[in-house]
Amino acid sequence: MSPQDDPTAVLHELLEGLARFGREGTGVTRLAYSDAWCEAQRWLAERARGLGLAATTDAAGNLFFHDPAVVPGAGAPPVLLVGSHLDTVVSGGRYDGACGVVAGLLAAAALRGHGALSAAGFVTCEEEGSRFPSPFMGARSLLGQVEAGELDAVRDGNGVSWRAALDAVRTRGCAALLAPGPRPFPPLFRPARMLELHIEQGPVLEAEGLALGIVTHIAGFRRLRVRLTGEARHAGATPMRLRRDALAAAAEIALAVEAHARALGEPAVATAGFARAEPGLYNVIAGACELGLEVRHVEPGRPAAMAAEVEQLARGVAERRGVALEIVEVSGQDPTTFAAPLVAAAESLAKERGLRFRTMASGAGHDAMVFAHAGVPALVVFVPSRGGISHAPGEYTLPEQLAPGLAFAIELARRVSEEPA
Ligand SMILES: [Zn+2]
Repeated sequence: MSPQDDPTAVLHELLEGLARFGREGTGVTRLAYSDAWCEAQRWLAERARGLGLAATTDAAGNLFFHDPAVVPGAGAPPVLLVGSHLDTVVSGGRYDGACGVVAGLLAAAALRGHGALSAAGFVTCEEEGSRFPSPFMGARSLLGQVEAGELDAVRDGNGVSWRAALDAVRTRGCAALLAPGPRPFPPLFRPARMLELHIEQGPVLEAEGLALGIVTHIAGFRRLRVRLTGEARHAGATPMRLRRDALAAAAEIALAVEAHARALGEPAVATAGFARAEPGLYNVIAGACELGLEVRHVEPGRPAAMAAEVEQLARGVAERRGVALEIVEVSGQDPTTFAAPLVAAAESLAKERGLRFRTMASGAGHDAMVFAHAGVPALVVFVPSRGGISHAPGEYTLPEQLAPGLAFAIELARRVSEEPA
């Protein structure tokens, strides 16, 4: 069956087909470089060839669907990349990543030989951090950003390095040879623009009865680990006025941080995700407490500013309570602003098609974020998620919501590919 015959049936068949690899009940577990991942990648490559496309893997196991006339490598012309990721979280769903993978495959097939920019579908090897504790391995390797040392430094929960995992899938034809030298993943394509169709993973589109979300921003974040040190003393014999209670200080900081984000208003959010008191007994005042704080915001500069504000709040509480405070920023990501011309093109197409849509920010990261930070004009388009469920077996998007989203993504890719790089 070709996509021209019945695109909805082809979409359904591809999503169902992909969900077989790693199926667990109604959900899917497809961790990067696992057997299920490998088989899914090979199946997709086969399907691409059946649609008249070439299917090429790079050294990281990213897969590209492209016009056979386009030869990947250093001399390849700039392309429009359309796609998403192949991996899922443990006990994930059938649509996160898969939906964009299928859109990339069908867009590459529909647009073969069309436009100033050749459209290539792509499937990143890893996006979820599902197996390796390293963010966006797929998109970063595809863009040539990964250095050789990371291949040995990054290990999964069983101690298997990224390099060893790649060696194993390479013998099965699911990755190409690593390049010698400091940059093991030379890019096969130079992306001029990038599009990603994705499920929303939240309840907004469904609640508002909308067909599409055009993502203008992805929130950035800062994570802070706070260590409070007071004095562990007998909980019965120490009067209230003589206490230096680390857990009570942590509690006050958690509430102050929450109040701060409320006062800033949406889209600012701040969370105290954990508090671990020591020694953690009924009859001992907590002598120490570790507190995990996270702030998020979509505007440039705001996550860093919020982190500084939160630090000041925490220091004020600690000082007043006579508790020592250490604070470390453990990770962060600046907000992403997607390309205004792509947002405008998507808005005008949605209006022309009479599709009900809104622009929105995403609280979750996506492959497109890595492209945008690398200076590649990029855009994410959301279709609704039933009940806002995601990263769980209950993940579901109705076929009548997916089909117009897919058709929209392909038509948007057609328009975007018409403009030269
Ligand atoms: Zn995803």
